[in-house]
Amino acid sequence: MTIGTTVLGYPRIGPRRELKRAVERYWSGRADEATLRRTARELRAATWTELRDAGLDSVPGNTFSFYDQVLDTAELFGAIPRRFHDLGLSTLDTYFAAARGRDGAPALEMTKWFDTNYHYLVPELHQETAFRLAGDKPVAEFREAADLGITTRPVLLGPVTFLLLSKSDQAGFTPLDLLDDLLAVYTELLAALRAQGAPWVQLDEPAFAADRTDADLAALRHAYDRLGAAPDRPKLLVTGYYGNLGPALPVLAASPVEAIALDLVSAPDTAHATVPALRDKTVVAGVVDGRNVWRTDQRAALATVATVLGSAGEVAVSTSSTLLHVPYDLDAETRLEPGVRSRLAFARQKVAEVVAIGHALRAGVATGAATDPPAPHRDERVRARIAALTPADRVRAPYAERAPAQQRRLDLPPLATTTIGSFPQTAGLRNARAGLREGTLDERGYLARMREEIARVIALQEDIGLDVLVHGEPERNDMVQYFADFLDGVASTDLGWVQSYGSRCVRPPIIHGDVSRREPMTVAWSSYAQSLSVKPVKGMLTGPVTILAWSFVRDDQPLADTATQVALALRDEVADLEAAGIGIIQVDEPALRELLPPRAVDQPSYVDWSVGAFRLATGGAGPSTQIHTHLCYSEFGEVIEAIDALDADVTTIEAARSTMAILDDLRSFGRGMGPGVYDIHSPRVPDVEEIVELLTRAVAVVPAERLWVNPDCGLKTREYAQVESALRNLVVAAGLVRGDS
Ligand code: GLN
Ligand code: ZN
Repeated sequence: MTIGTTVLGYPRIGPRRELKRAVERYWSGRADEATLRRTARELRAATWTELRDAGLDSVPGNTFSFYDQVLDTAELFGAIPRRFHDLGLSTLDTYFAAARGRDGAPALEMTKWFDTNYHYLVPELHQETAFRLAGDKPVAEFREAADLGITTRPVLLGPVTFLLLSKSDQAGFTPLDLLDDLLAVYTELLAALRAQGAPWVQLDEPAFAADRTDADLAALRHAYDRLGAAPDRPKLLVTGYYGNLGPALPVLAASPVEAIALDLVSAPDTAHATVPALRDKTVVAGVVDGRNVWRTDQRAALATVATVLGSAGEVAVSTSSTLLHVPYDLDAETRLEPGVRSRLAFARQKVAEVVAIGHALRAGVATGAATDPPAPHRDERVRARIAALTPADRVRAPYAERAPAQQRRLDLPPLATTTIGSFPQTAGLRNARAGLREGTLDERGYLARMREEIARVIALQEDIGLDVLVHGEPERNDMVQYFADFLDGVASTDLGWVQSYGSRCVRPPIIHGDVSRREPMTVAWSSYAQSLSVKPVKGMLTGPVTILAWSFVRDDQPLADTATQVALALRDEVADLEAAGIGIIQVDEPALRELLPPRAVDQPSYVDWSVGAFRLATGGAGPSTQIHTHLCYSEFGEVIEAIDALDADVTTIEAARSTMAILDDLRSFGRGMGPGVYDIHSPRVPDVEEIVELLTRAVAVVPAERLWVNPDCGLKTREYAQVESALRNLVVAAGLVRGDS
């Protein structure tokens, strides 16, 4: 059987987030396991049927997950840590305990899945980990589809990527040491799938779209030589999406696997022509973008497939990656302007594109939409402004001049205390937003409700004794969506949900045309907050890179150009905040590292434009305006120079969770720095002594005049009781280290 047409993966939360609702009902005890499993089965059946009926030749299987496919893999191979088994729960609850934690059994660490906005759970492996086939999920789901008359191609996380994504705290051991043990179990699983009649299995190795060591490549070679040599196995399709397979491509081409998928969207220049061994393989040409929402130019896609024809034994047509990262169905959207809608394709539409390109390929005819989609909206005012920019627009007065000017204006103590921006999002606030949306609360009522909240949060911060206050962000459903609603050239969807992690979904805005700000976005909230206090209240903006990272971005021009446009809109907001008398403005860039390209060769130009965009957004601020930025991670190393280059007056970062492991990186930092001293990811309230201890270590590296005292991140997901005690302790601790009596 040939592959013909396929997609490499599909969304699984359900077109109406049915899985999210079912899982959350189960967690809260409002539904039993059987009910949850029934919903899951219905969603799987709907997906397989839809993909088969759309005309795909090969339908992916095992793309479902109750929470995360990496956790599924750990469970499948018996690698759920002992602490979760010790809870004595059912299989399903043990799985959820590993995902979410329980008393006495903290959850597995969660982290970003490559350069996407999906998060996976990090398996914990040890020398003693004994892999075994502990479950049968891929086999059971294969059978389930077969019962519906659909032969699926089970998708598995590849063994090498699984090990590379895992962690271990044992010295002298790395998860890759377990490769042979793991391969034995994969071999067993492949045989079980073959025995059920699976003709193909897909193994995902996205880790090889990034730079890898020779040892990693050797592991890849070994893995696929060994799996390829297994006697009873389905044919193997190996993918390495989110980029170019680079040196992994010749390795896979020389292995016995039957098919290799190339991501020809993020890496159109994949050097397939230079790998003669591909002549014996099926090349699965990923020409329909799996990660973005734009309609495919089918003629161009067909031309790309044609370039592969000469260098492959056989060619199949596919998406560039799994479709996990795009919404289900454009047809469900009611509010998109026709001009924008006609340029879009969500998962369902992308499947149709793959099928159409496959047909055209087989028939040897040209394909393509009958009419070309309209061009993106061009805003000549924006274009003219960009053309008139000069390097000086990205350069502020030197820090040596800014620091004293700010000190004169703000008169802050050493070890100044502040928070990262958001205060808890209470049910009351969410209800108010829902009421406004549904029309049960009018604009004035909503405004009053938000102002009441801001006044409460300001009073609380004054009572606690913080030095720099925030308005608390009660009006923000989401730190990107909120801004998107004020920007021309950016659209929102009704149902364009994509999974971020577990049951959490986000609805990324779509940046489809030239971007400009319609009106001030935050000034009214910030000036109202400032009017309530003599202490400085920080203005709070989301930075250009983060706005891009958490949106679907037009692909007809470089990201850098779109970033410049977004930066200009933010620059206008900075100017308006300054004019309204706001003396401190924070521009959050938690996604700065996320967008960093996987391969080192591509990184310098990324750093260049991302830093440039931040500096354009903030470069108009006068010397006495203090610019803060906030980054949400402690693995600083790779981007430390970029962070320095942002030239922010104060940078707050996550550090409490890693107990200040970042201090070494901070030695060279010449401006204000706030390594977090309160881990907001945990409900635990840190006591005064432990904050004092963290600060004592920090003050040895960053002088007190430049050291800030703050939590790791925003407080929106915490409860007031915890936040209040934690912040009181933080203020007391800062006072002690400062030497207040
Ligand atoms: N200002 C935002 C908040 O406090 C920052 C959030 C983030 O870093 N992700 O919620
Ligand atoms: Zn953060």
